[in-house]
Amino acid sequence: MFQQEPPSLGNQFADDRVLRSYLARVLPAEMLAEIQPALMELGLLASGELYRLQLADRLNEPALTQWDPWGNRIDHVTVTPLWRAAERVAVDFGVVATAYEQKHGRLSRVHQCALAYLFTPSTDIYSCPLAMTDGAARTLLGSGNEALIERVVPHLITRERDEFWTAGQWMTEITGGSDVGLSQTVAVPTEIPDQEVAGRESHAADWPWRLYGKKWFASAITSQVALTLARPEGNPPGGRGLALFYVELRNETGGWRNIEIDRLKDKLGTRKVPTAELTLAGTPAQLVKGTTDGVRNIAPLLNITRLWNGISAVALMRRGLALAEDYAGRRIAFGARLSEKPLHRDTLSGLLAEFEAAFQLAFHVAELTGRSEMGELPENEAQLLRLLTPVMKLTTARQAVMVLSEVLEAFGGAGYVEDTGLPQLLRDAQVLPIWEGTTNVLSLDTLRALGGASESVPSPLQALNDAVSNCLKEAKDPELAEPVSITRAAMRHAEKWFRRVAGQEELEAGARRFALTLGRTMESALLIRQAQWSRDYEADGRSIVAARRFARSGIDLLID
Ligand SMILES: Cc1cc2nc3c(=O)[nH]c(=O)nc-3n(C[C@H](O)[C@H](O)[C@H](O)COP(=O)(O)OP(=O)(O)OC[C@H]3O[C@@H](n4cnc5c(N)ncnc54)[C@H](O)[C@@H]3O)c2cc1C
Repeated sequence: MFQQEPPSLGNQFADDRVLRSYLARVLPAEMLAEIQPALMELGLLASGELYRLQLADRLNEPALTQWDPWGNRIDHVTVTPLWRAAERVAVDFGVVATAYEQKHGRLSRVHQCALAYLFTPSTDIYSCPLAMTDGAARTLLGSGNEALIERVVPHLITRERDEFWTAGQWMTEITGGSDVGLSQTVAVPTEIPDQEVAGRESHAADWPWRLYGKKWFASAITSQVALTLARPEGNPPGGRGLALFYVELRNETGGWRNIEIDRLKDKLGTRKVPTAELTLAGTPAQLVKGTTDGVRNIAPLLNITRLWNGISAVALMRRGLALAEDYAGRRIAFGARLSEKPLHRDTLSGLLAEFEAAFQLAFHVAELTGRSEMGELPENEAQLLRLLTPVMKLTTARQAVMVLSEVLEAFGGAGYVEDTGLPQLLRDAQVLPIWEGTTNVLSLDTLRALGGASESVPSPLQALNDAVSNCLKEAKDPELAEPVSITRAAMRHAEKWFRRVAGQEELEAGARRFALTLGRTMESALLIRQAQWSRDYEADGRSIVAARRFARSGIDLLID
């Protein structure tokens, strides 16, 4: 009786040509030698113990128990065994800490992102609380609020399991996640003496504000702390009237600090993430920085979570392709393995090219972020980072959905069957274009990064043009001539289009095609540079094949 062999995973670091080649190019040899053993260990966990636990954990979900047997409101939330294991692994490997220890200076972000990339695919979006924790640490460190920096940041970036805290970010309300300026949560200053709030909350002096409102999507509600937006009483409407607040979710005895968990969301994917609808019923809070400009003040958090989004997008693509490529070597159809069928091979090559290109852009933003955190970015590259963060997030997220949909098809019917663990890849990927800014909202943010409609090409676009040119200059292999010319033409077209539609409604209407064109153009340029390097130093032409394929797949999405 025929039995189909399931796909299997090798060590997810050792097997990853794209990651290894990239790290070999950007890291000094001594640094790579130093960090490689941990990457190898994490790669082994990701393909072994964690992967097995992930498959075994498939049907488990977080649960909310609102009442105890005696009628007390408890709002107890449990997470699954995989998530508990994931937290331990994350802390042990310093998946957040590495970026803050800065042992390798500006390259610490790249190191951290390599860890996050290996960690993510077997841990069912535990990357979500880690991303927010990382973003909260960055935001607090930049806030100048010494008391919070001293009290909170050490917990967010620790390598001690018992000391570790995760952070949530609560922005979205039922009125809008994109247009957060509509937020209705109010902050009321309080001078209530401690005894009057006994049993509710204490330390009025430490917590001079009370928050009242509802947050509509509060992910990873098991976190210890959160950064949130609320409007101090009397402030004007709109985003500027919101302030950034810090909240600790539970008191010393583990009770909620005037927070009610109304419900956990029943979601398409990310089902291990307990995403809550919650009521702030006089929740004690502190201002992080000023009584206005909360949206601007929370931006550093979003830049970090958008970076994580991109790293997660490429990590999930890589997992899908690793499984699909392995399976193609095991599945027989029409007398041969799928891996021997030219059309199946061609299908997978197209997906691999998308992944390789996306990988280069996500990690390039990690490089720029790391340099920015060390204060090493000149103005033009700071502008480039501001531009590429939304561009990278939106481009890689869309690629992940497309690639993972195709990955499922590469398994035929098995890709649609739940207990293979495959459908979850697509469901989880589908959140990537939605949270932390939808594709459209980030396309508009891209225009803002360019300084809005202007008559002349603004300097961030020039910075991008320079970055693209610098990459293309390195291409010498004749096989790269065609992708170089396609990439150059796409960049020129984007600039021309931007100049032509400046000040017209067409600019906003075309923002998504424009932003995706910028993203794919930059991806193509970065992939070409990597491909040339890999040819020169590794005698490997596979990235050249990917670069040619990617450039031909349509990087210019503008329609005149
Ligand atoms: C699983 C999950 C977890 C989440 N976790 C969190 C969390 O922890 N914290 C948090 O704060 N939020 C969280 N969110 C919320 C998420 O950030 C929002 O759903 C998202 O920002 C979109 O907001 P919205 O749902 O209100 O959609 P809307 O803002 O109503 O958008 C609807 C559609 O309109 C489009 N649109 C909006 N404005 C424009 C415009 N000007 N031009 C063109 N198109 C536009 C959008 O692109 C979208 O397609 C989570 C969401 C999900 C799905």
